[in-house]
Amino acid sequence: MTDRYAVIGNPIEQSKSPLIHMAFARVTGQDIDYGKVLGPLGEFAKTVDAFRAAGGKGMNVTAPFKLDAFAYATDLAPSAQIAGAVNAMKFEGERVHAENFDGVGLVRDVVHNLGCPLRGQRVLLLGAGGATRGALLPILAEQPAELVIVNRNVTKAEALAALGRQHQSGQVPVQGLGYEQLQGRQFDVVFNATSASLTAELPPLPASAFAPGALAYELAYGKGLTPFLKLAQQAGVTRLADGVGMLAEQAAEAFAWWRGVRPDTHAVIAQLTVPLV
Ligand code: NDP
Repeated sequence: MTDRYAVIGNPIEQSKSPLIHMAFARVTGQDIDYGKVLGPLGEFAKTVDAFRAAGGKGMNVTAPFKLDAFAYATDLAPSAQIAGAVNAMKFEGERVHAENFDGVGLVRDVVHNLGCPLRGQRVLLLGAGGATRGALLPILAEQPAELVIVNRNVTKAEALAALGRQHQSGQVPVQGLGYEQLQGRQFDVVFNATSASLTAELPPLPASAFAPGALAYELAYGKGLTPFLKLAQQAGVTRLADGVGMLAEQAAEAFAWWRGVRPDTHAVIAQLTVPLV
């Protein structure tokens, strides 16, 4: 029998998850169906209950329901616990197992697909929202030389830095700062994990923050050269990437978790890539 999966969000029309997971199913020979579920606001639990009652095996979760999924889960993986948010669920009888694969997806894209090890690198994360929360421990696990989180609301950056210091297994220095405190500092890898690009805005990042040879990574995807990537390019950065690989890699993690087989992501990334021009 065909196993059913879906992504739930609101809005959901834009989601690439069905395309990605059905492509994975074809190349791995898995008999699944993967759809989109529009969750009415305030009715997350009711909507997921109905999907489970109809035999659904698992779901991806996108905005604005990642916190609702956190509350709904019965068994939270450490990745979800630390992130305080859930992006994948697996249903087994009464149990709802929950994971957050965004951070591991990001790190896998950077390290494996882009060939940029984070070990020993000075890493800067812009933003202190859900994406940064998810990325925090997977980045620290790579043992960078340092990790700086910068945010307009500095209190949020400081809180996430404290979380990182508390939960990491290594001794990586982690700081939470305001943008003005970046003057005179340089980084080898700069992640834009703010939502500024979704409205074509530029975080107040000094162009001097990019070290020679730096990687500028935009977590948003499908938007071409965002204001952040333009700033990096004007600062002489030649290694530019957006979040399409992160999207594909978090999907591959979920697929492997559900189906026990890890699909190759290259074809899907090539299909979804929008040129950075
Ligand atoms: P949140 O809403 O949780 O956090 C938004 C963050 O952006 C906050 O820290 C906010 O700062 C900051 N911000 C917003 N506008 C600006 C601005 N103009 N200048 C500076 N900072 C700004 O968003 P998420 O963490 O969920 O998402 C962040 C990004 O990551 C989005 O672009 C999203 O598309 C992308 N993403 C990509 C994924 C992928 O698979 N590729 C997966 C998940 C997310 P403040 O607190 O000061 O308001």
